[in-house]
Amino acid sequence: MVDYDEFGPEKIIDVYHPKSGMRGFVVIDNTGAGPGKGGIRMTPTVNIDEVARLARAMTWKCAMAELPFGGAKSGIVADDKQISREKKKELIEAFAEAIEIISPTMYIAAPDMNMAEEEMGWFAKANGSMNSATGKPKSMGGLPHELGSTGFGVYHATRVAAEHANIKLEKATVAVEGFGNVGWFVAKFLSEAGAKLVAVSDSKGVAYKKEGLDFRQLAETKEATGSVTKYKGCTTLPPGDILKVTADILVTAAIPDLVKAGDVDVIKVKMIVEGSNIPMIPDVEEMLWKRRILVVPDFVANAGGVISSYVEYINGSEKEMFAMVEKKITRNTALVLTQAEKKKCPPRETAMAVAKERVLEKCTFCRV
Ligand code: NAD
Repeated sequence: MVDYDEFGPEKIIDVYHPKSGMRGFVVIDNTGAGPGKGGIRMTPTVNIDEVARLARAMTWKCAMAELPFGGAKSGIVADDKQISREKKKELIEAFAEAIEIISPTMYIAAPDMNMAEEEMGWFAKANGSMNSATGKPKSMGGLPHELGSTGFGVYHATRVAAEHANIKLEKATVAVEGFGNVGWFVAKFLSEAGAKLVAVSDSKGVAYKKEGLDFRQLAETKEATGSVTKYKGCTTLPPGDILKVTADILVTAAIPDLVKAGDVDVIKVKMIVEGSNIPMIPDVEEMLWKRRILVVPDFVANAGGVISSYVEYINGSEKEMFAMVEKKITRNTALVLTQAEKKKCPPRETAMAVAKERVLEKCTFCRV
């Protein structure tokens, strides 16, 4: 069930195109600061409740990043693995046309699950406005997510949090969960900063090496064999064992609900940076906080992608994008961690208070 409260959701649009069989939804959570921003997800199970929760998360993420965007999200019901590229294109085009009345005025799309730059190109062309989607191919003036903006931002959140926790990044040991778009870039930037990657995982398992994994070799291994676990000379562990690794820092960059209440006592890191979305529920974050393990919340650490979207929206360059990601993530991570320390509360509590205050500052129709 969708929860309605003082912030939204403002609009829920449910669309169907009989000829193609396209079925989809858009949830516009809040447009107090500007048009709702959020990705399109294509899965067979996507539904309005899921899209509404994701749209709300975008409201907080855009507010935290101080962008002139509200929060939104959308979904197209289809099994990406069961349909041809042509069919996928047809569904995306039908969806783009069906929601033309609200996009780009109230909704600006972006890639989410099973969507990438080419799909955003199809969406924007069918919609007729290049402003209707971000994450488009470079040839269409886009700044594709494949440039690594999110991982770059997560790296800066890690750098600031490490400084806050008196951990020297150039001497730190790091475990990274996931080696996709986010994990690959975080691992790259952290190793370039001198940190030692002792464990990196993907869906097949964890590659563990106490002496450190070489990033280039790891990337080549993944490319050549499909998994980091084939890294020569490493110890291979099951994927969940990333939580048992002894390191200074754990960066999450893959699945939701990675850390459960039962894992809290097993964890042997000093801090966790949430590169992935909802790697644990707030109660688990609080349990970790009570164990003095610093957790940088997802919507603070992984806002690099949406910041990049904003730079694309205003026709900025790749260079401007990286500069803005660094600036905003550095400032907001420092703000949240300093305030949390002062108030003696978990960082998420402070981050939520900051985000709500920023939404209310801009929102004339929210209930205060
Ligand atoms: P991706 O599909 O590119 O990569 C996911 C990675 O996770 C792959 O390496 C996969 O092998 C690995 N994986 C799957 N199951 C695993 C498991 N059980 N243990 C360890 N690794 C596993 O996805 P992504 O774009 O890197 O996104 C990762 C997370 O970051 C998601 O939660 C996503 O919502 C979030 N996120 C992504 C962006 C972005 O711009 N890409 C922005 C914000 C948040």
